[in-house]
Amino acid sequence: MAKAAKKKHGAKAMFSLSPVEFRDSAIAGRGVFARRRFEPGDVVVPYAPGQRRVDARDPEAAAAAETRLTLLSGGAVIIPDTSVPGGWLCNHSCAPNAALYSDGEGRIQCVRPIAPGQEVTIFYGWVSRNEPARDPCLCGAAGCRGYINFDLSDEDAKCVTILPDNEVVVSQPLRGRLLEYERFLHSIDQDQVQETIATTLVRIALRRPGSAVLGY
Ligand SMILES: [Zn+2]
Repeated sequence: MAKAAKKKHGAKAMFSLSPVEFRDSAIAGRGVFARRRFEPGDVVVPYAPGQRRVDARDPEAAAAAETRLTLLSGGAVIIPDTSVPGGWLCNHSCAPNAALYSDGEGRIQCVRPIAPGQEVTIFYGWVSRNEPARDPCLCGAAGCRGYINFDLSDEDAKCVTILPDNEVVVSQPLRGRLLEYERFLHSIDQDQVQETIATTLVRIALRRPGSAVLGY
């Protein structure tokens, strides 16, 4: 019955069962904050309680990836419904305490202990092209890299030689920069990002068309 199902309003909540809250963050916009302690492996929050899936080849998917966090899940791209808060609001950090997992509906999972009140952060970024200062990072971590994006410039592309057997040779100074970023990615357990960088680099070197900015 509609009458019986009506919620009582005006009562002050004693506690909340919600493990996170969404509020303004010092890093950027609204962020996700823990309301209880999380241990590594704990699921913190679903990625997007409201979401739509579009084919990865759909132009809408590429456009969404440039502007906000989208999630590649199989051959589909999950676009969050931004009227429903969720893990998609997690800010980037260069020393994240959580990670985004793309299987199923997508979820944010703890990777380092998170105390109540702490902001829940993940690692994501973009490979940009000739825009080194595209996405400044304000994460405040001790090892903050200054920018969320990893930029590849036309100068960088000159350091790349693709041999007839499809072997890719990278010379200095790009080589040193890639190795240094590789060490950083490894230290935060995000080695898979290297593949996105390598793919973009080869595409630029071969002058293949494609999205100017690739998210990871
Ligand atoms: Zn940072």
